[in-house]
Amino acid sequence: MTAAEVLRRLVVDVPDFPEAGVVFKDITPMLADPDGLALVVDALADAGRDADGQRCVDAVWGMEARGFILGPAVALALGVGFVPVRKQGKLPRETHAVSYALEYGEATLEVHTDAAGAGGRVLLVDDVLATGGTARATVELVEACGGTVAGVAVLMDLAFLPWREALGDLPVTSLMTVS
Ligand code: IMP
Repeated sequence: MTAAEVLRRLVVDVPDFPEAGVVFKDITPMLADPDGLALVVDALADAGRDADGQRCVDAVWGMEARGFILGPAVALALGVGFVPVRKQGKLPRETHAVSYALEYGEATLEVHTDAAGAGGRVLLVDDVLATGGTARATVELVEACGGTVAGVAVLMDLAFLPWREALGDLPVTSLMTVS
């Protein structure tokens, strides 16, 4: 079975969550399936390897909250460290912060200034790419730490939203496109 088949079978659409009109992609049935989870984590980790199968990133960064579930597993598979990108006010030491626009209002993401991968090549891991605002803000955090983003790896991209515009020509690995 492929990672895309696992996701088609084990990600559940939940209409009108968290608000009316939104179809939320619930990944918890996939997380509960040991074979499916292993396959999906392996497919995400491939985004951190070159054509010869050699690791080509120095760290994995994951965005709160579902990037905290997938990211450490991908980091372990690649043999690198993991960095949590958190919502404002959660990290205890000196941080870089980037604010970005949401449909209504604004959000801020933060990372410790001495995060693993600072100055190196970073793989971003999250569950869903929608507008790309979260990933774009995280790219700016990596760059504020002196690093570069080698790629973005997600379970799903929502093709009807403009994430590609937000990310320019950054390499994106998406295991399943939702159209
Ligand atoms: P973006 O910033 O608009 O690209 O939204 C991506 C962020 O929102 C990710 O961190 C996702 O976890 C979350 N997200 C957006 N849509 C969904 C969804 O349908 N299911 C689960 N998470 C979502």
